[in-house]
Amino acid sequence: MRAVVYKDVNSVAVEQVDDPRIEAPTDVLVRITTTAICGSDLHMYEGRTVAETGIVFGHENMGIVEEVGSGVSRIRKGDRVSLPFNVACGFCRNCLAQKTAFCLTVNPPYAGGAYGYVGMGPYTGGQAEYLRVPFADFNCLVLPPGDEHENDFAMLADIFPTGYHATVLADLNPGETIVVFGAGPVGLMAAYSAMLKGASKVFVVDKVPGRLQLAESIGAIPVDFSAGDPVEQVVDQTDGMGADKGVDAVGYQATAAEGEEQPAVVLNQLVDAVRHTGRLGVVGLYLPQDPGAPDENAANGRLLFNVGRFFEKGQKMGTGQADAKAYNAQLRDLIIAGRATPSFVVSKEVPLDEAPDAYARFDRREEGYSKVVLKP
Ligand code: NAD
Ligand code: ZN
Repeated sequence: MRAVVYKDVNSVAVEQVDDPRIEAPTDVLVRITTTAICGSDLHMYEGRTVAETGIVFGHENMGIVEEVGSGVSRIRKGDRVSLPFNVACGFCRNCLAQKTAFCLTVNPPYAGGAYGYVGMGPYTGGQAEYLRVPFADFNCLVLPPGDEHENDFAMLADIFPTGYHATVLADLNPGETIVVFGAGPVGLMAAYSAMLKGASKVFVVDKVPGRLQLAESIGAIPVDFSAGDPVEQVVDQTDGMGADKGVDAVGYQATAAEGEEQPAVVLNQLVDAVRHTGRLGVVGLYLPQDPGAPDENAANGRLLFNVGRFFEKGQKMGTGQADAKAYNAQLRDLIIAGRATPSFVVSKEVPLDEAPDAYARFDRREEGYSKVVLKP
């Protein structure tokens, strides 16, 4: 089959690789109909999370079940399914506690597995024609048949649940205000989830004009951090108090307005832009190792986070890999009911063969390449 293969820093290619096959009776094989490129793929693409040459990327997958292992009971050939990016067993302690992003079975001795991601287990990615899905009864979310809402459902594998998870980590309640750093697809999904949950004001901080416009299009207040201190802009519009809640949807590759990388800038600005006793939800990625970090501490995941200020403000913080499975069924039902259309972030649909060009443009944050979906 054809698949997007990592070659080297800033280089992917569409190549022939071995077809996946049923390896365990609990597997199914899915023919991919839509798969997406994620900001998380860019960390590997840029060599900022070291991936082995030859790995197939892709953890935002959906498609049609083609083959079913003998131990699968719920999922049938022909089912249209979304695959949460977290590969999970369903029976370990963490899965039973609905923390499937930290499954203890699928990637020992680590907690948590994913498709097509370095350090997340042996699961080949889905930017390809076919995908093997382990523990299929647990990992498949069944969708209505047909091809309606295809790009909306494609957002269910990762970014819609991840954005929603950010609002859960931040404990957002109806009527509250929230500031979201990052207007990439994840930040936009966090802002969108905040609107769905009835936030009274949603601020979205970024500097890419097209992305800020998307934020405005869903009723959020765009904050351009290249036009002035984002903390001041938020504090000024929240009676001098700061927002009730905050989300980091940027992560360790955060930059200053001039473009220079400052890995802790968003965390520190969040502390300042959120009020005393507010909560922060951090879904932007932070890693224990970063070969391209600006200094030696950051290279080992140690950032200059302003703990003193965080303590003084009595804030709380939730972090970590999001759990797509915890929310994907409810979010699917919002889409079916016509109450949510997360595909508003999808800015380009390209054939799988054009993935290398799409990666390069998305990496440059080129206008119109906010969220790219690939069609095998
Ligand atoms: P993206 O790279 O498209 O978006 C990041 C955005 O942050 C960009 O628009 C950039 O301009 C902006 N940005 C950079 N510095 C900033 C600053 N100082 N202030 C405000 N905005 C700034 O990526 P994405 O797909 O939206 O993903 C965002 C992050 O979420 C990435 O780190 C990704 O790895 C992570 N992620 C985490 C999970 C999870 O489970 N926790 C899942 C998916 C993605
Ligand atoms: Zn992703």
